[in-house]
Amino acid sequence: MLNPNYKGKLINSINIFCKNINCSNCGGTYNFQTFSCEYCGSFNETLKKSYESISSLIPNLNKDNIDKEITLYLYKLINSSDIFNHALEQFDLTKDTKNIIKELETKVYYNDLDVKLLEGIFSNDIFLNIDNVLRDIILRNVILGKNNLSEELIEKVISHLVLSDTRKISKDSRFYIRNLGDKVEGLAFHYYVCLDKEVMDNFYDNGDISIFYVLPHEMMHTYRTYLESKGIVSSIYDVLALKERLLREYNQDIYFNDKNYIKNLHEIEANAFSYHSGTNYLKSLGFEIKEDDALRISGIINNDLTRLDNPLREIDGELVNINELFADFIKDKKDFLYKYPQLHYEFKEEEGQIVYKSKMELVDEMIFQNKDESLEELYLYLIKNAQERERIKDKSDTLKS
Ligand SMILES: [Zn+2]
Ligand SMILES: [Zn+2]
Repeated sequence: MLNPNYKGKLINSINIFCKNINCSNCGGTYNFQTFSCEYCGSFNETLKKSYESISSLIPNLNKDNIDKEITLYLYKLINSSDIFNHALEQFDLTKDTKNIIKELETKVYYNDLDVKLLEGIFSNDIFLNIDNVLRDIILRNVILGKNNLSEELIEKVISHLVLSDTRKISKDSRFYIRNLGDKVEGLAFHYYVCLDKEVMDNFYDNGDISIFYVLPHEMMHTYRTYLESKGIVSSIYDVLALKERLLREYNQDIYFNDKNYIKNLHEIEANAFSYHSGTNYLKSLGFEIKEDDALRISGIINNDLTRLDNPLREIDGELVNINELFADFIKDKKDFLYKYPQLHYEFKEEEGQIVYKSKMELVDEMIFQNKDESLEELYLYLIKNAQERERIKDKSDTLKS
């Protein structure tokens, strides 16, 4: 057995080393001779110390004295950086780690060592890419009330569930559990997902499954953020959703009321995703959710799904068209047109103002675009709107003359 002092020191040093592996100033990588960032040049003393500590401890390791816990941490180390690969090549860390996880998958109750291993696995981003069988077994046991793990550890498992998805769209994604107050079950902000503590407690204490509907709802919001920031547009729906978000962000006082909230495209799509994703995930764990319950918990029961392209909203008792509201809003906001290139389909800059493209301009562009069917549909929608606008304008011009 490895001297327990060595073991504690090794695990601690690996944690510190992995935390410091990228430059905190610029995200760059370090040179392991100088311990300065290869991009911005800043020196990292902590990284140097942990590197030296690990280097001095590795010679004490051999196949007979590395236990399961050390194996997991060494696996974390070689997956964070390849600098120690040579020094550790006598160990088959990937295979051994897989076996440790396989063994944990066969258990329902965990002893103290198992708990330590689970903490090692679920506290670590490295393990976001392993297969999710172990995670799903643990969550299933919580629902069934067969669980002896602490709430803190179950929170880490839930975090794994969220981040294994959201990290695919952004390395900046984060997950938090907070007291969000009455009636708020979750929040999404950019690539951050936040879950209400009460929803978490209900899951942990009573096996309440609503958590599996709340999370995908918020995750859909982060995915929409991703599409909008990349300027990805595949239908008129994407354009309307962006307009509605910008209007909400900048005109909250006039725009926010409950009637519009349930019509908000972001909420509708989040509810729809929650309904499918929650139900399917629970099904994969072996639970059948009644249709009525899934509709209610996901919130989709409140949504009119037949008209996702409906631009009408009610503000102060009057029906307004978000297309018109937006055209007025964006007039003097040139920076928006550059920040969101997807608005270029419909708008252009002319004499310092942001204005609609004409029907003829849209028709020309549609002909020259890349025979993409979904874009063609988008253009047809925009052309129809342009035609309507120009018809109304012609009419009022005629009346004036
Ligand atoms: Zn740097
Ligand atoms: Zn929402």
